[in-house]
Amino acid sequence: MQTKVVKFGGSSLADAQHFRQVADIIHADPTRRFVVSSAPGKRHKSDDKVTDMLYHYYELARNRDSEADKYYARIEERYNGIIRELGMDFDISGELFYVKNAIAHMSGRDYAASRGEYLNGIVLAKYLGFDFIDAENVIFFRDNGTFDEEKTNTILGEELRRHEHAVIPGFYGCMPNGTIKTFSRGGSDITGAIVARAVEADLYENWTDVSGFLMGDPRVLDNPPPIEIITYQELRELSYMGATVLHDESIFPVRYAGIPINIRNTNAPADPGTMIVSSADGYDPKRIITGIAGKKGFSVINIEKDRMNAEIGFGRRVLEILEDNDISFEHLPSGIDTMSIVVASSALEGRRERILHSINRQVRADHVEILDGLCLIAVVGRGMVKAPGTAASIFDAIYEAGINIRMIDQGSSELNIIIGVNDEDYETALNAIFRKFVK
Ligand code: ADP
Ligand code: ASP
Ligand code: MG
Repeated sequence: MQTKVVKFGGSSLADAQHFRQVADIIHADPTRRFVVSSAPGKRHKSDDKVTDMLYHYYELARNRDSEADKYYARIEERYNGIIRELGMDFDISGELFYVKNAIAHMSGRDYAASRGEYLNGIVLAKYLGFDFIDAENVIFFRDNGTFDEEKTNTILGEELRRHEHAVIPGFYGCMPNGTIKTFSRGGSDITGAIVARAVEADLYENWTDVSGFLMGDPRVLDNPPPIEIITYQELRELSYMGATVLHDESIFPVRYAGIPINIRNTNAPADPGTMIVSSADGYDPKRIITGIAGKKGFSVINIEKDRMNAEIGFGRRVLEILEDNDISFEHLPSGIDTMSIVVASSALEGRRERILHSINRQVRADHVEILDGLCLIAVVGRGMVKAPGTAASIFDAIYEAGINIRMIDQGSSELNIIIGVNDEDYETALNAIFRKFVK
């Protein structure tokens, strides 16, 4: 029999009505054996995600704020409300009480955040009649905080073989010293991929609130169409650049195992969604680009020095300064006597002066400056290699919209073209490119 791993995001598990929809989806297909749960998300636009509430409660408890108890009661009500409305004969108050005390007694920020998925996983397992496997016992990190894929794959695989059906909470695992650690935000997608690999699933279904990976962010573009098929590589480019529908690291566990991912809509389960596969052809001249995504908040370190091109080791010395400051760079567009390094502005916080000073001292630059407010937009498509003039169309679109391009970078794979514009031009630029390619 086939095995599918199904991950449901926060909006798919936000309230009792969504729990019912989720149960219908799972029961409709007996191969949907392993379920990865997120914490309850927003029920409406101005609602709070339980994960955010737990981070907030952790801060209140840490500061011994008199509002802490009242605030925690709101978190309790999210779970109690779901249980009550589903008519379940189940009392979660003991667990809620334990978690409240553990957070108040400083079990750590990650522990606090992880309880959103933990508690939701318990409720969902009970509701479905599935076993509950605590991620704490099967997902492992190393001492340095990186994910330990081999240890996890062995232990998780052994555990899953003992269960016909199970719910595994997403987002967290365990450090060697027994404390809880979470992945970065949106990390339940990663847990889903890890479970899919461990059980050698035929398919990893990722259920969310949109009918697949759309060509661009639906909050910025008017009705972007869903992408039918996308490669892992294209998806990574887009999700890394802000298409937050799937965590950019969630492709690694499944990619090498050759397990496809299917993004589906919990609110429209009949829609086919998007298939994410290792390779795809089917070049369609009407669909040269697969998708567009963008991210604000980058800075450029501009370095100028006469005859930089002839100075062996110049680039290495500059990059070493970034390494010493624990900063990774995004792009490195260069001219003959200029070098620009694009980095996330947040990575420079508190280190600007030190970096400028070090660059001046180490490479004796003629001029060094840091410019902020850069937004990067990635136009991604496996069809671009075969379609001459794609770059020209992008630049045309940006020019016609009256926007100034601050940076251009095309990867050697010809899979994507990245342009940098001012933060405030992001929405206009994205719409202009979208309209150029989607008629
Ligand atoms: P979940 O809670 O199911 O994990 P997320 O909120 O993490 O869902 O991701 C889904 C959201 O991602 C969508 O509601 C949409 O607003 C946003 N999004 C951004 N870019 C895209 C895109 N290219 N395609 C689809 N959704 C996108
Ligand atoms: N609940 C976590 C978050 O809000 C993880 C996830 O939703 O994937 O980031
Ligand atoms: Mg998500």
